Amino acid sequence: MTEREIRKAIVENCLKMNATGLNQGTSGNLSARYKDVMLITPSGIAYEVLKPSDLATMPITKDYGSWEGPLKPSTEWRFHLDIMIDRPDVGGIVHTHSTYATILSIAGKEIPACHYMIAAFGGPTIRCADYATFGTEELSANALKALENRTGCILANHGMITTGANVAKAMWLAVELETIAKQYYQSLLIGGPNLLSDAEIANVLERFKGYGLQDKKAANSDAKPKAKSRAKSPAKAKAATTPKTRAKPKTLAKPRAQAKPSARPKPKTRKRA
Ligand SMILES: [Zn+2]
Repeated sequence: MTEREIRKAIVENCLKMNATGLNQGTSGNLSARYKDVMLITPSGIAYEVLKPSDLATMPITKDYGSWEGPLKPSTEWRFHLDIMIDRPDVGGIVHTHSTYATILSIAGKEIPACHYMIAAFGGPTIRCADYATFGTEELSANALKALENRTGCILANHGMITTGANVAKAMWLAVELETIAKQYYQSLLIGGPNLLSDAEIANVLERFKGYGLQDKKAANSDAKPKAKSRAKSPAKAKAATTPKTRAKPKTLAKPRAQAKPSARPKPKTRKRA
């Protein structure tokens, strides 16, 4: 796809996010990879009036945190950028505070294998990342950990993230995640779900590959395995998990100049979307 086509696809999927009811106010944001830059929705603009030319661009591999465009990038740019850096297989990212995913995140519950469609996320669970303040490096690190070998996660007391080979695929998964979240939540109200086994989810995952439902590269996410961020084994899915310990929120970072990607410096101070 050309940059112009990708910009159009982002705007189209923003409107789709509104139409599907996934977006709450202006809390949702989308990004897509184009060569070595990330195109991302800007902060504080209604999607009904968003134009392809309004998107911000941020370099993926250098000048970490710098951006160009008529409008500031989303306040959530950091985890979008960190996912793009850490996961070369990811071409599109959706983040939203959709109701049911956020309800589960507030309760600190990961989503277990209550429905076979969970295999579309690469395994038998959709993890819940530990809480950290929006826009922080800590939130990025927590999200990356929860996304290991997965194409989606929820963020404690915040919302959800889905990733795909492109922004349309990530949006499809966002709708699926919210659907499973709603189904799981409601099953808890009538006595709790009967869970599928890990073997059955592995079986479904194989079938999805045959149908093109599972993006193999995205599911494997083995571009940069990190021993220290290894998440706990998803081997035993449970109907409910222990709420995560909440990290102490940090204050937002100070303004700073450009630096190397590895330095992961603080961003410019940005207003909340
Ligand atoms: Zn958010």
